[in-house]
Amino acid sequence: MKICVLGAGVIGVSTAYALGRLGHDVSVIDKAADVSMGASHANGAQLSYSYIDPLASPDTLRKLPTYLLGRDNALQLKFKADMAYMRWGMSFLRNCTSARFDANRKARQALAELSSAALESFKLDAPSELKPTGHGKLVLAQDTADFDKMKQDDGFVSYERCLEIEPSLTAWQGNILGGIYAKQDYALNPITYCKTLKTLSEQKFGVTYYFGEIVSKILSKNKRIAGIETDQQYHAADMVVVCLGNEALPLLKPLGIAPRVYSAQGYSLTLKSKKSSPRTSVTDLKNKIVYANLGQEFRIAGFVDVNQRPNNIEARLELLLQTARKSWPDAADFDGPIAKWTGARPMMPSGVPVIGEALVEGLYLNIGHGSLGYTFAAGSAMKIANMIGHAQTNMMAKQGGHNAA
Ligand SMILES: Cc1cc2nc3c(=O)[nH]c(=O)nc-3n(C[C@H](O)[C@H](O)[C@H](O)COP(=O)(O)OP(=O)(O)OC[C@H]3O[C@@H](n4cnc5c(N)ncnc54)[C@H](O)[C@@H]3O)c2cc1C
Repeated sequence: MKICVLGAGVIGVSTAYALGRLGHDVSVIDKAADVSMGASHANGAQLSYSYIDPLASPDTLRKLPTYLLGRDNALQLKFKADMAYMRWGMSFLRNCTSARFDANRKARQALAELSSAALESFKLDAPSELKPTGHGKLVLAQDTADFDKMKQDDGFVSYERCLEIEPSLTAWQGNILGGIYAKQDYALNPITYCKTLKTLSEQKFGVTYYFGEIVSKILSKNKRIAGIETDQQYHAADMVVVCLGNEALPLLKPLGIAPRVYSAQGYSLTLKSKKSSPRTSVTDLKNKIVYANLGQEFRIAGFVDVNQRPNNIEARLELLLQTARKSWPDAADFDGPIAKWTGARPMMPSGVPVIGEALVEGLYLNIGHGSLGYTFAAGSAMKIANMIGHAQTNMMAKQGGHNAA
């Protein structure tokens, strides 16, 4: 079975790996010069299986005027007179009810559990390369509303326990009332993850990577996939898996497929680690900032901006830097070199990614992973690999049936 995976971010690389392991003939095509050059590049680096609440929630709905008016530093939803945004926004609002929030949360939880197990199985192939750099994760409760909510959670820990788990939090400058601790969560540089899976899949399963090729068309014949066209060549394929994150829509539209993916910008800083840097990943919910130890380096990522103006990006990065430095001055070397980055999360209004076969036979989508795409990558890849496995079995059974007749 010849399969083209479009996109070499965390989702595409994981999907190609899972398919290669099953013995398929897999090619990966990306317009960039290497893996992990899009939204995956310098993300928060957290494999976060325990705290997976979607953004669309009754709580977000209550605070919507603050977000729309730009009065919250961490989350800004700017209005734009654009049909795609309006459709996404209406659907987002419909997903803010308690019932939808609970259903979406459950779907994300199931995908997180599958992903955790899937990544453990990938790790068996490369235990030293895929070794975590940060261990466990603490989500801090900084006000009574978060504290009261977190107290209901199985992972709830007191303020004293937060300090026992991560002693460097004594230098934290804000309020800590308690938190949620997830021992099984961890940090790992997404570039290391992608490069490791790429090399392994090439060496062990013969997966081929084509970089610097822009996919221009997905080709179908009689409602069945025929291949793809890039700016350089034609690739024949029995199946195509679209893992193009934010950029999937223009290629899907001619096929009559229009998933509601919309970009939400975020920002990150990569600093040098210090002796005092925490080993545990920490989430500051109030400021929507995550802290992760990557060994020699330290990652600080955060903020959610919808329709941010390009000329405001530098100011947002500066605000992220100043907020982190003020909150946790000892977390990393704030006086050394700092690499700044911005990326756009491919967000579904519900927070539940699109994983499955689309209108055309042999066309699969693995897109819309939003703020937790790295966490969901391995699980979504296994789901696609299983679906394609079933489809192949059915196809062979049909062919066998025809032959017998
Ligand atoms: C600031 C920030 C922090 C984050 N922190 C975390 C975190 O801590 N944990 C977590 O789980 N998630 C996190 N995320 C979310 C996560 O990074 C994304 O959900 C994930 O990277 C999406 O991966 P992807 O493979 O779908 O998209 P991408 O990584 O964007 O990959 C898509 C690929 O498609 C390629 N492409 C696009 N169009 C074409 C074309 N026409 N032809 C060829 N190639 C094409 C691009 O070059 C790109 O490589 C964060 C995101 C941001 C922005």
